[in-house]
Amino acid sequence: MSTHGSLSINSENIFPIIKKWLYSDHDIFFRELISNGCDAITKLKKLEVMGEYQLPDDNKFKVEVIVNDKEKTLTFIDNGIGMTADEVNEYINQIAFSGAEAFLKQYKDKTSEDQIIGHFGLGFYSAFMVADKVTIDTLSFKDGATPVHWECDGGTEFDMEEGTRTERGTKITLFLNEDSLEFANEYRAREVIMKYCSFMPTEIYLTNPNAEPQYDTIDPSEVLDTDKVIETVVEPAKTEEKENEDGTKETVVITPEMTKTKIVRRPVALNDTTPLWTKHPNDCSEEEYKEFYRNVFHDYKEPLFWIHLNMDYPFNLKGILYFPKINTEYDSIEGTIKLYNNQVFIADNIKEVIPEFLMLLKGAIDCPDLPLNVSRSALQNDGFVKKIADYITKKVADKLSGMCKTEKEAYEKYWDDINPFIKFGCLKDDKFCDKMTDYILFKNIDGKYLTLPECLEENKEKHENTVFYVTDEIAQGQYIKMFKDEGMDAVILKHNIDQPFITHIEQKNEGVKFQRIDADLTDNFKESEEGETSEETKASYDKLAELFKKSLNNDKLEIKIEKLKNENISSMVTLSEESRRMQDMMKMYGMMGMDPSMFGTNLTLVLNANNQLVQYLMNNIESEHAAMFCEQLYDLAVLQHEQLNPEAMAKFVERSNKVMMLLV
Ligand code: ADP
Ligand code: MG
Repeated sequence: MSTHGSLSINSENIFPIIKKWLYSDHDIFFRELISNGCDAITKLKKLEVMGEYQLPDDNKFKVEVIVNDKEKTLTFIDNGIGMTADEVNEYINQIAFSGAEAFLKQYKDKTSEDQIIGHFGLGFYSAFMVADKVTIDTLSFKDGATPVHWECDGGTEFDMEEGTRTERGTKITLFLNEDSLEFANEYRAREVIMKYCSFMPTEIYLTNPNAEPQYDTIDPSEVLDTDKVIETVVEPAKTEEKENEDGTKETVVITPEMTKTKIVRRPVALNDTTPLWTKHPNDCSEEEYKEFYRNVFHDYKEPLFWIHLNMDYPFNLKGILYFPKINTEYDSIEGTIKLYNNQVFIADNIKEVIPEFLMLLKGAIDCPDLPLNVSRSALQNDGFVKKIADYITKKVADKLSGMCKTEKEAYEKYWDDINPFIKFGCLKDDKFCDKMTDYILFKNIDGKYLTLPECLEENKEKHENTVFYVTDEIAQGQYIKMFKDEGMDAVILKHNIDQPFITHIEQKNEGVKFQRIDADLTDNFKESEEGETSEETKASYDKLAELFKKSLNNDKLEIKIEKLKNENISSMVTLSEESRRMQDMMKMYGMMGMDPSMFGTNLTLVLNANNQLVQYLMNNIESEHAAMFCEQLYDLAVLQHEQLNPEAMAKFVERSNKVMMLLV
């Protein structure tokens, strides 16, 4: 039996094109060849279950990858179903090329370099990305099958003849091209296999015939029957001569005679053939979940909690999603969702399948109904893919709301870590937002967690529908103290996501308003006025205001003089909520070139007429230090509201020193 033929393909020569298109992802051939080996084994297992094939007793399924940097070859061997000559003809010579043809058709007119063919999938032929020549040696499981040898040197022609393989299964050898020799390096090969094949369902072994064997010398009782024993050595006892106090000499044994065995350890499979997500949630322990997380995401911090997805109907989807611990509020939160098809890695973070906000989580999702070779453009408009995304969103919302209902304490404990994620989800996904509305918590200034209705209840008497909030507990400390003194409440919203989030809530809940704690000094903090303010008082207020405007060289500054209940407070600033949000927005969009007063973003300076220092100034407008006090009071007030600019800060420090000198 010997055949020579032309590959049935219209294109002149597919291989240069494969090489070009595959460039961006050209390690993917590992995945394709190893998964073909796993498939061949799965097929044989099925035949056995169906009673159509009897496996030998000592059968152990495996895929072996052999790197040989001297010969510049990579070999993939499986002991699966194998192929007959007819099958090679059908599956390799014809079918695969129809895939290639489809690929060519689809990409004929596209010139973008970064298209990833790996997502299109040419399976077996991806080997030609890295190899000049590929050979197949295969023996079918069928009784009396003849072995087949096939080879192709990257042109449009192949040779097929009777082969010499004696063991069931398939051996594929790649003769690497000069640009791809890295893949014959054991460590590089291991890295790629770990990337794509960590959870494939058949054991994968990597061997390097050129590597020096690594010997261990151990106690014979520790030798496993799968270890390869090289020799057994007897180490003689070690003794030492010791002199006793009376001068006599004695020999003491330091280590007794020992039998040791020199072995080469049993090879270990690189992959985990039963990843945790394939087990039933009831059979997984907490430690197993944590260990899986550590192994897969190399995150030394423990995850907060996780969701084990396990569904068969209406589509098949399994996976585990972890809520990672965020170290500090400054950490960028960026997750990784690994997508698998029947334990074969497809890609990280495919945003068409995973809702965008879930990308903040870490996890693995296995969905056999997804095409292995995901073409992103095809996914975008896929109704099925949308269903998967919706299902995952629903599961996450269910888990969170369930936890809030039945494990409130734990939910509150995690809240600080998970809230940016939930808020982001609410902004991005309306359905998620509706499901989560009742389970959004707000931490108040006493560290208690409240729902939105509870927040509104707190200040209901005087400020119906207003939620006061703090963005910086330190800078806004004085306002917080005033709130506490008055028995008023405010919530802490200090994450970047909070500003867009409260705007979102305001839009969704008509009438509800969020107001930063320093937006306005409400009547709560003012002494209740009895009668009219006298003309005389008004006049001195006006003079004081003039003094500040002149000292601060700011004519437009709005100044209010109020009698605050707390006489220790000298000055504060307020900025209306609208103006501040406008200002934040401008900062965000970098429109700072514009005149801020255009948007009415000026601060209002509030001076406390009940404060001694303010009163002193009022009565001593002519004092030689008046200007300095005005500047200092202004800076102190601004400091509680926002950071001073560098120039103002330098002046503030300098002036503070001068003020202290007055005491000396
Ligand atoms: P796919 O795996 O998507 O079918 P491939 O190009 O990877 O496409 O493989 C084409 C076909 O060749 C497979 O469907 C299978 O029938 C056959 N084949 C490839 N590799 C092997 C193997 N190691 N053992 C048995 N059959 C194989
Ligand atoms: Mg394949």
